[in-house]
Amino acid sequence: MHPDVGKALHLQEVDRTISDLRGEIASLPKHIAEIEKALGSHLKKLEVDKAALAANQLDRKKLEGEGKDQQQKISKLKDQMLGAKTNEQYRAFQKEIDFCEAAIRKCDDQGLQLMEAAEALAQNVRAAEVSLAEEKRVVEARKKEVAAQTARDKTDLARFLAERASIAASITKPLLATYERLHKRMPDGKVVAKVVDSSCGSCNMMIRPQYMADLKLGPDVLACENCRRILYIEAPPVDVEAQMND
Ligand SMILES: [Zn+2]
Repeated sequence: MHPDVGKALHLQEVDRTISDLRGEIASLPKHIAEIEKALGSHLKKLEVDKAALAANQLDRKKLEGEGKDQQQKISKLKDQMLGAKTNEQYRAFQKEIDFCEAAIRKCDDQGLQLMEAAEALAQNVRAAEVSLAEEKRVVEARKKEVAAQTARDKTDLARFLAERASIAASITKPLLATYERLHKRMPDGKVVAKVVDSSCGSCNMMIRPQYMADLKLGPDVLACENCRRILYIEAPPVDVEAQMND
């Protein structure tokens, strides 16, 4: 392999790592935002349940007040009833009392229904408070982990960027310029392609026999005639047995 191509291959590996590190550094805050959003929506749900519970308690108080009012009305009516002069007046009072008693029963029934609903709501609130305490703990722990991971990634990134600069400085200018130009263009970041079965390992285009011969001779760095990637032929493994038999 041409030594410059070896360096370009090394540069490609380092660029891959740099790209992965940058991707991770960019994705970590998004991950935190997602788990914080989930926590926020669970907190909101808890607030809604708490508000419903408070409203329920208020409604029950109101019903209790209404019941008491009706009770007072009944005692007043009973007092007035004592002074009834005719059967007709008596029946009129009794009718009003019946009406108040019906209203009290209605309040009691509604109160009972509200009480049942309040029990379910209170249970929801208690369960949500327990699970939210745990969720908050998990989110805080994850945030610390992510902060540590990001710091590590940034240190690694600085190290790989320095390594990249030193590799780039050691490559001949024209090849480096070709590399940088291709690197920007290739979405997969692959600039250097291995020759596989006389074809470009990246775009699979067959390489002409003459071009293959030139590649094997290797004084020049050659690019794939189709995708323009820098080509290299991997040296065949050394046949130790054959060497020993020589
Ligand atoms: Zn190609």
